[in-house]
Amino acid sequence: MRQRQVIWVRTRLFLLLTCAGIILLFSAITFYISKSVILKGVKDLEIKRVTDSVVQLQSLMDAAKIRLHQYTLEWATFEDTYDFVKQPNTDFLKKNFRYERISALNISSCAIYDISGKQIAYIEGTGKKRGTEWRARESAAFDAFIQKMRELGITSLAGFIPVGDDELLISAHRIEDNLKSKLHNGIFLASRSIDGTFREVGKRISNLNFSIAPLTVYEHIEAETIPSTDIKYLSRERELSVYTLLYDPFAKPAFCLELVLDRDYLALGESIVSRNFTLIIFFGLSIFFAGLFLLFFLHRRQIQEELRYRVEHDRLTGLPNARCFLKRLRAFFATDKSAVGIVFIDLERFNSINSSYGAVLGDTLLCMVAQRLLTRKDAFLIARESGSDEFFLAYRYGREALEREVETIASMLQEPFISGNIHLHINASIGITCRPTNGNDPVMLMHRAQFARHTAKHSGLMYVFYDEHMDAEETRKKQLEAELYEAIEGKAFIVHYQPKVDIKHHDVAGCEALVRWQNKAGEWIAPPLFISIAEDIGLVTEIDMFVLRCACRQVMEWNEDGIAAPIAVNMSVRSILSDNFAEHVIRVLTEEKTPPSLIEIEITETCFMTDMKSAIAAITKLYKAGIRIALDDFGTGYSSLQYLSEMPISFLKIDKKFVDDIFSAKATAQPLVKGILSLASSLGMRTVSEGVERKSQLDFLAANGASIIQGYLFSRPLSGLACGDFLKKQKDIIAAVLT
Ligand code: C2E
Ligand code: CA
Ligand code: CA
Repeated sequence: MRQRQVIWVRTRLFLLLTCAGIILLFSAITFYISKSVILKGVKDLEIKRVTDSVVQLQSLMDAAKIRLHQYTLEWATFEDTYDFVKQPNTDFLKKNFRYERISALNISSCAIYDISGKQIAYIEGTGKKRGTEWRARESAAFDAFIQKMRELGITSLAGFIPVGDDELLISAHRIEDNLKSKLHNGIFLASRSIDGTFREVGKRISNLNFSIAPLTVYEHIEAETIPSTDIKYLSRERELSVYTLLYDPFAKPAFCLELVLDRDYLALGESIVSRNFTLIIFFGLSIFFAGLFLLFFLHRRQIQEELRYRVEHDRLTGLPNARCFLKRLRAFFATDKSAVGIVFIDLERFNSINSSYGAVLGDTLLCMVAQRLLTRKDAFLIARESGSDEFFLAYRYGREALEREVETIASMLQEPFISGNIHLHINASIGITCRPTNGNDPVMLMHRAQFARHTAKHSGLMYVFYDEHMDAEETRKKQLEAELYEAIEGKAFIVHYQPKVDIKHHDVAGCEALVRWQNKAGEWIAPPLFISIAEDIGLVTEIDMFVLRCACRQVMEWNEDGIAAPIAVNMSVRSILSDNFAEHVIRVLTEEKTPPSLIEIEITETCFMTDMKSAIAAITKLYKAGIRIALDDFGTGYSSLQYLSEMPISFLKIDKKFVDDIFSAKATAQPLVKGILSLASSLGMRTVSEGVERKSQLDFLAANGASIIQGYLFSRPLSGLACGDFLKKQKDIIAAVLT
């Protein structure tokens, strides 16, 4: 059981750790996947934002180009301009090429070229003033621009062009008259410097933080490129730097446009990731604690089941106990009306084995008995009452089948139980009840089975079926029990003495003290009945000691009359095994001033079966004190020749049963009696043959070496007075019988 518990605890711990591991792994994978999905989404969104921003920036540039183009167009189609080209004059310049006018349009410079491509007018407008060197460079750039237009033969051209370190937006248009006669025309050119003002305005309009850098920046920056675009971008912790190209009118890269974007999406993504992390941890922990709770719940349920199991089962054999047996029987009776037989088994000699070999072997024996009983497959319930040597079985059998089954069980239990090199022999007394004959209530049936078992034990039978009369007996026993208490109080017992005759010397070898009880109603109660009740209720020792005291007084009385006949006193197993039994006996003898040689003690084999050690100790003390011991009812119990030879026994009393059988049909009877007689003589013991009623029995016994005879043939048990008379006339009486 403990082993099972340890394994179960380990399994649970392993399960818990595995669960925790799986949950941890699962959480980590989930977190990793969700994080990478979110960050991928963030990257996609950022790329889209980058592309959109670049498109927005490009359209901002295009808008500036268109605006400048519109101004250029207006100027180029202005009639006065046309006239000026045809006929340059200062009036036009004074009126139109004024600083204020040009600056108001955010134009950096304007120039007019005549038909031959020669610059005929120039004015600088808004923006920082530059030196002549720069002006020369600008002029060269304008010239190249015009030249290109003329080469291509196009009406207008606009675009961004680098001039030194600066960037210019240039727009040029052919000067045309209203009629578009193209007879006399030149080119009008306007430029706008992409300076701080331009960028400020651009930033305000687009909300984009951009700048323009030389092409080398774009070429040297190591950044990711968005496929199939010229956009590069660099992810920094909190911002994205985006680089793209600005082309000149001839589709050649002119500058690098640099754009700085906040990483709002990243911040959002990161906050989602951290919220995800919290959620996953929360769910992981929830699952873990739910698992923990489930395990705890299972553990509790297991403990409850274990407790229920323990309450209802015998820990030693694992069989259900009597309480569980009753519960299951009740449940069975509630649903099934069929005949049921209940078998109650009580092991004999179990206590003796327990005290002689120790509790461990006792437990092993009980387990072996349980194993044997478990082979009875027809028993639908098998139980053992914890702490006892009692077993219950229930069958769906009628009486006949039950009888056969019980015979089998009985012989099965008589087979020796082997543990190591120890062979154990036990007997069982079995009580049986049948449903519905003996009742329909499980409690009553169990009780009656126990009662029948009791009867079996006292009648020396292996098994007994309960019958109605037993109830009457039980009532009678209860009544006698109550009367016995009173009788002991009032010393209402008397003692009779039965002479034992020595047939070799023709005299009385001694007498046996036999207790007699007449209850208040005047009935003589049979000793075996009231002695067994007294044993059950623990009063037998008092009776035995009372008889011993009477015997002492009687033997001393005869002694004073000159008759020397020792008296044998019967002692019950309970008395012999009671504390300080030997001391008690010796004290009574001392108190009654009786020499130990005048008292014999009769014991039965049962005391060796119950507790061999204590029994031997007690009788050895008596023997040493000079009291002789007779082994009563020899051959009826479980006899071991081993203890016979080791014990200080002086007389073997051959039971009346054997004497009765001498002339019966039993073929074994005579050899058995002969055997006992020769065994006794070889062990140096004398024999007393009990219950001899007929001369033929006496003759057989005498012929086979019997020396002492007790029985109605010589005398029934007599009162002290009558026995005294017998003793005085013994020679005549004996002679009369023997001749
Ligand atoms: P037990 O010790 O075997 O006593 C012999 C019994 O056989 C006595 O029965 C006696 O009356 C009876 N008996 C003797 N000769 C004959 C005979 O020829 N024919 C027949 N039919 N019976 C004969 P009793 O007195 O009824 O005693 C029965 C048993 O009760 C005794 O068996 C003994 O075990 C027990 N007993 C009697 N007195 C005491 C006592 O003081 N203490 C204890 N512990 N047990 C006692
Ligand atoms: Ca006896
Ligand atoms: Ca006897």
